[in-house]
Amino acid sequence: MRKEFLVYGIPLIEEDDIAEVVDSLKSNWITKGPKTNKFEAQFAEYVGVKHAIAVNSCTAGLHLSLIAAGLGVGDEVITTPMTFAASANVIIHTGATPVFADIDPVTMNIDVNEIRKKITPRTKAIIPVHMAGHPCEMDEIMDIAREHNLFVLEDAAHAVYTKYKGKLIGSIANATAFSFYATKNLATGEGGMVTTNDDALAEKIRIMSSHGMSRNAWNRYSASGSWYYEVLYPGFKYNMTDIQAALGITQLAKLERMQGVRLEIAERFNEEFGKMPELEIPVEKDYARHAWHLYILKLNLEMLSIDRTEFIEELKKEQIGTSVHFIPVPMHPYYRDTFGFQKGDFPQAETTFERIISLPLYPKMTSQDTEDVINAVKGIVERFRR
Ligand SMILES: *Cc1c(COP(=O)(O)O)cnc(C)c1O
Repeated sequence: MRKEFLVYGIPLIEEDDIAEVVDSLKSNWITKGPKTNKFEAQFAEYVGVKHAIAVNSCTAGLHLSLIAAGLGVGDEVITTPMTFAASANVIIHTGATPVFADIDPVTMNIDVNEIRKKITPRTKAIIPVHMAGHPCEMDEIMDIAREHNLFVLEDAAHAVYTKYKGKLIGSIANATAFSFYATKNLATGEGGMVTTNDDALAEKIRIMSSHGMSRNAWNRYSASGSWYYEVLYPGFKYNMTDIQAALGITQLAKLERMQGVRLEIAERFNEEFGKMPELEIPVEKDYARHAWHLYILKLNLEMLSIDRTEFIEELKKEQIGTSVHFIPVPMHPYYRDTFGFQKGDFPQAETTFERIISLPLYPKMTSQDTEDVINAVKGIVERFRR
């Protein structure tokens, strides 16, 4: 057994990342400035989209996009129950009502047929979430949106490298929000990016990200700037800093290499776990390039004498850290009590939740770490198979 606990997720921070951050600190410009501008331009080029607006989190990016799209009281926004609470919390922050459409248990993404069932005259937007880094069925979602005149905002917190039908996520819907949180595929500690091809939307998001001001600090305080500004909207304080953007620049430069390691680990897991009938491995549909943000193993519980929670405890005894993505949002007390959700309202999300475990998967893992995870999982299955 391993001597050291294998933590569930950590970023890959190397000398180049550290040097770029130090460069920001020495430049005297530590909030949004030249590095943020550079990171935005590089990210837009990478995704192949006209506009990229750097923000301080994916949550901020989601919120700004909904505000800029004019969402508010009386509107309904459809999203998936199988996501982080932020995807739904931002809907509440606009005054609109979240409406959950159950998932396809295979991909764990929002089920397009369930979206159709949830549309009412009040529906104004859809927030699909590319779960674990596997893309949603975007053609079908965009068709529904055109039919009903809906705004589509992709939650791409897991999907910085994801492709749908050969195209990188970030330019398909009206807007897309990425996360650069510490454990995400591209990490700036905290941070996010909104991408869009819509000029007016981009302009509004940019203004709203900095108090609704007509000019940001860089425009005002740099040599070419002027002191004058006007507040056009009651905006937010959601901008990225140059310290974060420094990491964004170096992390983007090594994204391909980091993704290579993620793919290697995922393939090794698939190879071993695919042989065990007690386990169901993640799929990669023919329209998908998986970003392998998460490796979510599904347990075939009827073939095991322990449940998911006990499986996690066994892994912990073997020094393997894990997580669960996600507790379905409607099961959280606020959502359950506010909207009166009951057991059985989202049967696919609920039964999937009971059988999922996210295994460690990140570029800093060694091949020994990967083999340790494989051996621990296999050993537990062998000990507890019915
Ligand atoms: C991490 C995550 C977010 C929030 O990202 P932040 O950058 O921490 O705000 C939103 N949605 C999903 C699906 C996530 O996993």
